[in-house]
Amino acid sequence: MKSNAIHVSAKVLRNLRMRQDILRCSFDIDAKPDRKPLSNVTLKTHFIEDFVSDAEIIESLGSPLIEKLPPDIKVSFEFFPPKTEKMQTKLWSAIKRLAPLQPRFVSVTYGAGGSTRERTHETVARIQNETDLVAAAHLTCVGASRGGVDDVARRYWDAGIKHIVALRGDPPGGEESYSPHPDGYGYASDLVAGLTKVADFEISVAAYPETHAEATSADADLDNLKRKIDAGATRAITQLFFDPDLYFRFQDRAAAAGITVPIVPGLMPVTNFKQNANFAKRSGTSVPSWMYELFSGLDEDPGTRELVSASLAVEQVKRLVRGGVSEFHYYTLNRADLSYAICHVLGIRPEGDDEAI
Ligand SMILES: Cc1cc2nc3c(=O)[nH]c(=O)nc-3n(C[C@H](O)[C@H](O)[C@H](O)COP(=O)(O)OP(=O)(O)OC[C@H]3O[C@@H](n4cnc5c(N)ncnc54)[C@H](O)[C@@H]3O)c2cc1C
Repeated sequence: MKSNAIHVSAKVLRNLRMRQDILRCSFDIDAKPDRKPLSNVTLKTHFIEDFVSDAEIIESLGSPLIEKLPPDIKVSFEFFPPKTEKMQTKLWSAIKRLAPLQPRFVSVTYGAGGSTRERTHETVARIQNETDLVAAAHLTCVGASRGGVDDVARRYWDAGIKHIVALRGDPPGGEESYSPHPDGYGYASDLVAGLTKVADFEISVAAYPETHAEATSADADLDNLKRKIDAGATRAITQLFFDPDLYFRFQDRAAAAGITVPIVPGLMPVTNFKQNANFAKRSGTSVPSWMYELFSGLDEDPGTRELVSASLAVEQVKRLVRGGVSEFHYYTLNRADLSYAICHVLGIRPEGDDEAI
């Protein structure tokens, strides 16, 4: 394999990302220490044949995704702990449907303020014990002392759960703003550092393409992400976003800040647009105005809504795959169908399926 170092502009960098699959090349960015938008970066390239024109990129986006799929696409799925028997049944039917797709891991959220501590534990432990899936537990700093959080983590480790999604957490219901527990971990970076002392966990953390609502600036938020990585996290999962360009711009800024761990896009298939849009707004995610137009008139028409959602989700992953992304995290909301369909389009087939590509 030929390797060399070259200087390229931000535009060429984006073009290369779009074309990684076609050029059969990969590259590492030599990050610049300053945070300026990428203008000239040094790429360590491995076998770049040629640079590409915009026309070629547009043509590549126009071709069916399945024609040029990278072979190593990986997914993970996120669930929330069920409150009732009925929700429990729904969750397990989703898990059973998605499990044969062999996700890299599946994770279970931790309710605001630690309100689902036991339910999260039960769900994660059951996934670990009753399936072949790798289960990951979300854990937050809210409402508990360091010792209390460490105990929860130790229980996970003892139950065979070795992957934690470490978060600061949102304030419990009814509270406007976050305030750390007097004896607790203040921020996610503190929690990551604490977890590394409890056991040798794999640790994922949150990242915000549109900047966390409480961050003093986009750069400060990126500094915070870097602190979480430096403390021991090995993967960032993004807050949901709808516009792939937001992700690519964030990825560029993270690379310029020296962040080299995978930044896995967190995607939410639209199941109920009103609900999804409200959730997105609460999470600081912008909802493009064309999405309101796309879903207007479909509130009472779930069948059409599902078809429209599927086409939107496919368009989104197509742009991400063409930009070089090969790992995705799906916020399933405990529903399997759309995530399953997207995986199918991404060439991910149930284990043992002879027709898998
Ligand atoms: C993939 C993913 C999964 C999630 N799962 C859950 C879940 O299961 N349960 C849940 O309750 N929430 C969950 N959340 C939401 C998350 O808890 C909120 O977004 C929360 O507001 C921030 O969490 P964080 O881990 O990003 O916090 P942090 O990384 O600690 O950052 C929080 C804010 O504080 C700022 N900050 C960090 N350190 C400092 C400091 N030392 N001084 C001042 N400011 C600082 C940051 O810039 C940021 O604005 C999830 C989010 C994502 C993206």
